[in-house]
Amino acid sequence: MRQLLPGREVPLGKYTTVQRLLPHRARRTVGAWCFLDHFGPQSVINMPGMQVPPHPHMGLQTVTWLLEGEVLHRDSAGSRQSIQPGELNLMTAGFGIAHSEESPPEHPPSLHGLQLWVALPAGAKDGEARFDHHDDLPRRPFAGGAYTVVMGEFAGLTSPALTFTPLVGLDVVLDPEAAVELPLRPDFEYAIVVMSGAVTVDGSSLSPHSLLYLGEGLRSSRVQAGAGPARCFLVGGEPFAEELVMWWNFVGRTHEDIERARADWADGERSARFGTVHGYAGAPLPAPPLPTTRLTPRGRAPVTSS
Ligand code: MN
Repeated sequence: MRQLLPGREVPLGKYTTVQRLLPHRARRTVGAWCFLDHFGPQSVINMPGMQVPPHPHMGLQTVTWLLEGEVLHRDSAGSRQSIQPGELNLMTAGFGIAHSEESPPEHPPSLHGLQLWVALPAGAKDGEARFDHHDDLPRRPFAGGAYTVVMGEFAGLTSPALTFTPLVGLDVVLDPEAAVELPLRPDFEYAIVVMSGAVTVDGSSLSPHSLLYLGEGLRSSRVQAGAGPARCFLVGGEPFAEELVMWWNFVGRTHEDIERARADWADGERSARFGTVHGYAGAPLPAPPLPTTRLTPRGRAPVTSS
């Protein structure tokens, strides 16, 4: 079942907006991928660029993937890691961690990339937090382009990045009018986003700021660039069976999970759970108020009533 899911523009920090493509009201997860923001391309000449103050996460991994620019990550586990295009910053939150993300004071003129989250399954959601940086991701050239396996496994290439469920995140670069037949796993579901240019996916046109959900049961998909060069990102994985409660920067299972995480973050340094991010020039982000109604666990897609 194919679905074209239009993104929506949301503010991120004080100076940037992003296109939010997941979760979508009609599709909350693709495999374990539960969040997908496309930011830029945006000129950040003489501007602060990305400035996201310290904030907490739980129950997920954050995946940062840049096409242009530079972002400096700091976290409460003591990591301080700058990321460049072609590199992966992967933070596994487990039970809790906090981080900040910022364009360094001296930065390239443009900022463009993806920020994704992967939901952690029951066996890993309360685990220890960690941070990993990878600059040696497997890449395979083909006639008219190349792909990079950012997360998971694809066509015999395996990313060194830590994963907890069977999934894939694949960056695909195409020359003008070049095409590639991507081999897919029928037990996975997939979606694809265009980051630059335009493509057709099995004949359907796709441009930036929409996510094309491809569904399950597919053995391959043909992606072809339009008149200009194109770059897209394929996400996929085994359909995530657990129901989730996603609120602010937290992925939980129940209303109480979220309530507790919010309270622990509000306790600041009195709670050891999320820790302290050192070195960011600014105050941590306070959590918004909880909604007055209970948060409800939700499955991968709304149950359709006919
Ligand atoms: Mn974050």
